[in-house]
Amino acid sequence: MIDQLTINKIKEVTVVEIAEKLGLNPTKKQGANWVCKCFMHPDNHPSLYLNPAKNVWKCFACKDNNGGGSIALVMKHENLDFYQACQWIAREFSIEFKTVSKYAANNQKPTTMTTTQTTTSTLCTLDSSLIAARESANSHFCQAMINNHILTPVQMQHAVRKYHLGATASGEVIFWQIDQQQNLRDGKLMTYQPDGHRSRSVNPSWVSYKMKNEWKDKQNNPLLPQEWEKTQCLFGLHLTAGNNLPVALVESEKTAIICSELFYMQGFVWVSCGGISNLSTAMLQPLAGRNIIIFPDTDPDGSTFAKWSSIA
Ligand SMILES: [Zn+2]
Repeated sequence: MIDQLTINKIKEVTVVEIAEKLGLNPTKKQGANWVCKCFMHPDNHPSLYLNPAKNVWKCFACKDNNGGGSIALVMKHENLDFYQACQWIAREFSIEFKTVSKYAANNQKPTTMTTTQTTTSTLCTLDSSLIAARESANSHFCQAMINNHILTPVQMQHAVRKYHLGATASGEVIFWQIDQQQNLRDGKLMTYQPDGHRSRSVNPSWVSYKMKNEWKDKQNNPLLPQEWEKTQCLFGLHLTAGNNLPVALVESEKTAIICSELFYMQGFVWVSCGGISNLSTAMLQPLAGRNIIIFPDTDPDGSTFAKWSSIA
């Protein structure tokens, strides 16, 4: 459930501000209204009216019942449900997105975790402008998810924005690892086949590796120094910031993405550790005290379950 104060703040954003963010370009004013071209029908003469004082919008050329407030505008334009539209507005307008978890009532004490302080080293991160620069649904991964009807194009687009999925020029998908402080830890590059399975012949690579060894700047210097060291975090960890939602942990990035779209009603944050052998207590530490449900993949002999149970 979304916290009521968060909803109130979201509703303070005007329909005109929302329309601008959505690229509807409301530049003409008629009396108290702003007008722009309608996105629901081919519109040569602007017929979508936005009234910031009443904070409502409506297209007077569309015959079907349309219009409403700011959240409804995002729901309609982006094809999102109420919860997702609120998340969208909160993200775009830097509103803290608070949720009220039904688990909050349990008032659980955080699990105590003894952390051995390793020698203090500064965390190496990547420039987060890489995320926006690379955000794209043009990877072979995204295409395969759509072409095999695993996700609809709208769901895929939504997941791209949510997880900030990227693509390289050669079609590899970039699964960024972004932590709760929104630090960009690294990006995993993976090659997927047209059937939606990952290509076993191509090993995953890392953006940091490419920046150290292959990608060069104009002076032909590597983009990262050799001493830059990656520290992995869970894929999707950034989505756990600012809320107390239960977390669902799976093996692969692909599973996390698919489940987050297909099971969004359940209100989990879906994260991935990137592989069976990759789960560690260090990776789980940022989630100390949270409700976490762990889903290993098909596990006929129960060995992964046993191993993950011990880590958990
Ligand atoms: Zn219209």
